Amino acid sequence: FLLLTSPPSATVAAEYVKYKDPKQPINERVDDLVSRMTLEEKIGQMSQIERANATPGVIQKYFVGSVLSGGGSVPSEKATASTWQKMITQMQKAALKTRLGIPIIYGIDAVHGNNNVYNATIFPHNVGLGATRDPTLVKRIGEATASEARATGIPYTFAPCVAVCRDPRWGRCYESYSEDTRLVQQMTSNMVTGLQGDVPAKHPKGAPYVGGSKKVAGCAKHFVGDGGTRGGINENNTVLSFHDLMRIHMPPYDTAVIKGIASVMISYSSWNGVKMHENRFLVTDTLKKKMDFRGFVITDWQAVDRITNPPHRHYYHSIQETIHAGIDMVMIPYDYPEFVADLAAQVKKGQVSLDRVNDAVSRILRVKFAMGLFEDPLPDPRLAKELGAQEHRKVAREAVRKSLVLLKNGKKGKPVLPLPKKAKKVLVAGSHAHNLGYQCGGWTATWQGQSGNNFTGVGKTILEAIKSAVDNSTTVEYSEEPDKATIEKAGDYEYAVVAVGEAPYAETAGDNQNLTIPAPGAKVIKEVCGLVKCVVLVVSGRPLVVEPYVDYMDALVAAWLPGTEGQGVTDVLFGDYGFSGKLPRTWFKSVDQLPVNVGDKHYDPLFPFGFGLSTKGTSQD
Ligand code: BGC
Repeated sequence: FLLLTSPPSATVAAEYVKYKDPKQPINERVDDLVSRMTLEEKIGQMSQIERANATPGVIQKYFVGSVLSGGGSVPSEKATASTWQKMITQMQKAALKTRLGIPIIYGIDAVHGNNNVYNATIFPHNVGLGATRDPTLVKRIGEATASEARATGIPYTFAPCVAVCRDPRWGRCYESYSEDTRLVQQMTSNMVTGLQGDVPAKHPKGAPYVGGSKKVAGCAKHFVGDGGTRGGINENNTVLSFHDLMRIHMPPYDTAVIKGIASVMISYSSWNGVKMHENRFLVTDTLKKKMDFRGFVITDWQAVDRITNPPHRHYYHSIQETIHAGIDMVMIPYDYPEFVADLAAQVKKGQVSLDRVNDAVSRILRVKFAMGLFEDPLPDPRLAKELGAQEHRKVAREAVRKSLVLLKNGKKGKPVLPLPKKAKKVLVAGSHAHNLGYQCGGWTATWQGQSGNNFTGVGKTILEAIKSAVDNSTTVEYSEEPDKATIEKAGDYEYAVVAVGEAPYAETAGDNQNLTIPAPGAKVIKEVCGLVKCVVLVVSGRPLVVEPYVDYMDALVAAWLPGTEGQGVTDVLFGDYGFSGKLPRTWFKSVDQLPVNVGDKHYDPLFPFGFGLSTKGTSQD
């Protein structure tokens, strides 16, 4: 029978290689490929190394399976989409030349757009998306982010962060859609679908799904309970019963798995004193077995050696422990040659089973096959133009206007918003009125974000947006910290827009026990609002202490971290669109109340979860 169906050929036909045949079912391709691999090739697949170390020589020597740009690890500050594409093409070509030609998967933190790349469209951070209450919009943001990642040749993002942030003192709270599990689930569902594509009806449950070369593989992070650590301290211990862990923090992972999420990243944090990276019960028994997750599990950055304190203390043991717990891919194995040697030794000695390694490799390859990387491994130059594309920026602008939450509008029942476009003279003030880096927050161009005024992406600051929104006859004067005398002398401002808030931060650097409006924000509010009718925008990753100043303000708007499209702010300030955002988090009165979350017994916040005034706009989306 075999002979009869073989193609008639005079020359010797090339050996039929099953894993290379796209017509074969994915699991059979995976099994075939794994059966051909040496232990060294398997360990290579399990490794993800940093861009700067990923020379063609290293990729080939270690059979590296994945490369990342961590934090803000960009090839050069002003790298264009094609610079990125060329870099990744070079790495991919090196991988394809290895014995089995397994493509690498390149990952990046595209967490609010393809944010490490200059001139990308930067969307509001997740907290702002939670405020939109618009899952369909979030899906479109996922689609736009996928295409801007692919524009740079990148097929994998460490997003979405599905943390349920229960304490705004946590430096990563802005990466969380909400304190409310159901809202996080809704947004997760749509973000995963936007990034990876819609899971077809008959897709096997828990199997990774990435719909082609314009989509990207996603990563739900950080598993699990990262948003529930004590005191909102990053990477701390989450002290909760299993019941509460499953009720509050686990459901977004269920959602992501149902939507075919390609990977899950483990949290640096602990649960009841046990580091998540060594928690076999949660990683293997719960996520992989019970929840049926069939994509791959990745560590956080250099997390294997961090399960001990100080780090790297018992590295051999840490490797064994974490792989045994269910880790499939190690992000930054430190140090790499030692990792390779140790894991190989452990498999040879039976300290880590070959089955476990085969399972890890199968999961990684399953994602690579599912997303078509074997058929389509190289960046597509035609996609480069998608970076910062006008249509994405329109989506971002829509997201900004829908994310703004109006907390106060006028004194004594007299609304001040929307503001008139035609005014003689207006004042714009505050540290956040004219600073694109501040508007974008952390994870923008660099890991910690851009503190100075030197972030030159596409987009408009709030000041620039105001200037382009008002009537030609209106004079806009800007001063970051206007001095009381100057304001009095000018005397004739019809109104002022004051934007204050937090300077950018990421991860532990953002942990903050005070949550006060950083100086001189509070002073500017008091001085300007004492003299001129004023609208205050709080540009921040979380609620801040505003109670002492609310009486001074005529209007107060939570603007979150809106990203590059300042015009989304003016769309609602001037009434082209109505305010519609609702608080995705409880706005506390004072930090003594923290943690405070919707559903708590003694709930007495300044503004409750779900609060948000609305105004009428002349247009509608
Ligand atoms: C963060 C992750 C991130 C990784 C790669 C870590 O420090 O915790 O969220 O995906 O770095 O940049």
